[in-house]
Amino acid sequence: MSAPSLESIAERLQGYDPQTLTVSHVNAFLSQLVQPLRDVESVSPLQAPGRVLAEDVISPINVPPHDNSAMDGYAFAGADMHPGQSTVLRVVGTALAGKAWSGKCESGECVRIMTGAIMPAGLDTVVPQELVQVRDDHVTIAADLLSPGENRRLKGEDLMQGLPALRTGTRMGPAACGLVASLGLPSVKVWRRPRVAYFSTGDEILSLGEAPREGAVYDSNRYTVLAMLERLGCEVLDMGVVKDHPELLETAFRKAAHQADAIITSGGVSVGEADFTKAMMKKLGDVAFWRIAMRPGRPMAVGRLQESGRDCLLFGLPGNPVAVMVTFMAFVRPALQQLMGWQAPPLPLLKARTTERLRKKPGRTEYQRGIVERQSDGQLWVRLTGNQGSGVLSSMVQANGLIVLHHEQTTAESGDWVDVMMFDGYL
Ligand code: AMP
Ligand code: MG
Repeated sequence: MSAPSLESIAERLQGYDPQTLTVSHVNAFLSQLVQPLRDVESVSPLQAPGRVLAEDVISPINVPPHDNSAMDGYAFAGADMHPGQSTVLRVVGTALAGKAWSGKCESGECVRIMTGAIMPAGLDTVVPQELVQVRDDHVTIAADLLSPGENRRLKGEDLMQGLPALRTGTRMGPAACGLVASLGLPSVKVWRRPRVAYFSTGDEILSLGEAPREGAVYDSNRYTVLAMLERLGCEVLDMGVVKDHPELLETAFRKAAHQADAIITSGGVSVGEADFTKAMMKKLGDVAFWRIAMRPGRPMAVGRLQESGRDCLLFGLPGNPVAVMVTFMAFVRPALQQLMGWQAPPLPLLKARTTERLRKKPGRTEYQRGIVERQSDGQLWVRLTGNQGSGVLSSMVQANGLIVLHHEQTTAESGDWVDVMMFDGYL
């Protein structure tokens, strides 16, 4: 299927205006622009963390494979219990985990059983050992202590043979990796990881190792973006810093588009920027330049480059270090998740009470760096990290989340509940 042009996506989006796009417009646009990758690989449960399933995993077995005991105790038939009466049972054998008891239990008899041992035929209930009185070869269970079926794990109660144990689009976390192994499966099918190329642009940007000079700053965006990409599970192509020069930019864009599924750049997309980055994006691809109704992170370029018959997504992020991280979290991450085939629900927002007044005009989305803590009143409160300048990267380090003041929202008073996009697991 050929990808839709930017123009056709824009036509379908109600109220699309590249000069004042809302955050939700941007995400709606990107969800139409991104075509998921379709190449499949097989990986073992050890290689699977962070990968996305390309097919349902159908359980070849029941887990657990047999009814078994959830406790150390005595297995017996629940029908031997009678309301209001204690139950006396004779112990006729022992069932160990990994060593079943193959005898036959009559009414009034029980089997000593260990956790995980297969339930002997005809028995459905286990009384934990600490709840019985033992005398010689008899145990006594007090009246009305248990119901039939208690303390027994049923065959297939975790996973049923023939049914999907995991669904396509699931991102493999530690639990899913263990679950695959519990099915005895040596491998699972996952989508190929996306290859994402990144370079910073700007004549004032220094690479590590270069001598400081007046007016120049060390490149930090490369390190934040590459780290966020790694966390997301992308293969990264680090292309360093590219100076603001047409030939250098053209070479970099072509090389990136040749190898990668997506290119991310930072810098050079602001309005009035006297540089060649925007011009080169325009020359080499189908690219829209947006002003987004948000803070920080207003300017952004999005589109597609074609190189050697391949299609490559382009995200031209702003230059300011905090704006880069915020636009990545708000837009690039969900777009890359879609590219990865990861069917992730939108990030859940946490509700916390603001310790101070947050001034806000309706008509744009604001992201403020906050520290969420549980206070002595038992509630979650969020306070600002201080200077909210879009270049103040130290505030991103102090923060554990971004307070999201939504498009229509107005000033939040001290004590009001606000939404927070938590960093945990993402940054
Ligand atoms: P620009 O969007 O290119 O106008 O950049 C906006 C601001 O971000 C300027 O102060 C730049 O110096 C700064 N900046 C741009 N790129 C980087 C980078 N890779 N690392 C750190 N700061 C940057
Ligand atoms: Mg610049």
